[in-house]
Amino acid sequence: MAVLETEALVLRTYNFGEADKIVVFLTRTAGVIRAVAKGCRKLKSKYGASLEPFTLAKITYFQKENQELVALSQTEILKSHFDLSGQAETLAGLAYMGDLVVEFSPPYEPNEKLFRMVKACLDAICQSQADLQLVLRYFEVWLLKLEGYLPDLRRCGECQRAFDENELAFMNSDSVFRCRTCSQGFGSALSKRLQAQLRATQRLAPFAFAQESRAMPANIHRELAELTHQLIGRVLERQPRLRSTFQ
Ligand SMILES: [Zn+2]
Repeated sequence: MAVLETEALVLRTYNFGEADKIVVFLTRTAGVIRAVAKGCRKLKSKYGASLEPFTLAKITYFQKENQELVALSQTEILKSHFDLSGQAETLAGLAYMGDLVVEFSPPYEPNEKLFRMVKACLDAICQSQADLQLVLRYFEVWLLKLEGYLPDLRRCGECQRAFDENELAFMNSDSVFRCRTCSQGFGSALSKRLQAQLRATQRLAPFAFAQESRAMPANIHRELAELTHQLIGRVLERQPRLRSTFQ
């Protein structure tokens, strides 16, 4: 049995047995894990407030070979994010982020970049809850990218020619960006402004992206949201639902 320690974000919890909970964490070193927190629903639980959604904590847990559930042993709050819990829209946004991380990331597959990205998005939302929607778009683009589902923004997926700044890219139902010639009139054109926003997600941290994008016209934000939702929808449709143990 291994004793492991890592930094982790609480994605969600659900009740288990009489007094326990199962906690789904996104960890820095082990990816998404599910841990049993024994006795955490008792009045004097040693876990205190550390298992609230989106708390950042240092956790210690035991892992037995070939067992999917690990046993939580200790938690230490690094950042509570309790300040976010008063806003229904923010909570819904965070829950959405947590759900997508669980959907996209196979359990126990380390992905430190994903951990850092989600943590940075959370920090950006803490700094300015008014930017929630912009940060969520950033999160969606990066989740797609880190899990290998974001089309190449820089070049045509067919002829491999690099797009120039003023060129329209076209997307067909296969989620590939193509130049005008290769698309042969099929698919929808991505506006130049949308392509610029997508490029901005690649060079900026989430808070800077949100700040820079505040002036984005509503129709471009809608276009960006439609694009990410379309890409995410296609990925989830073709994901085999093997992870039913993740509620
Ligand atoms: Zn082409």
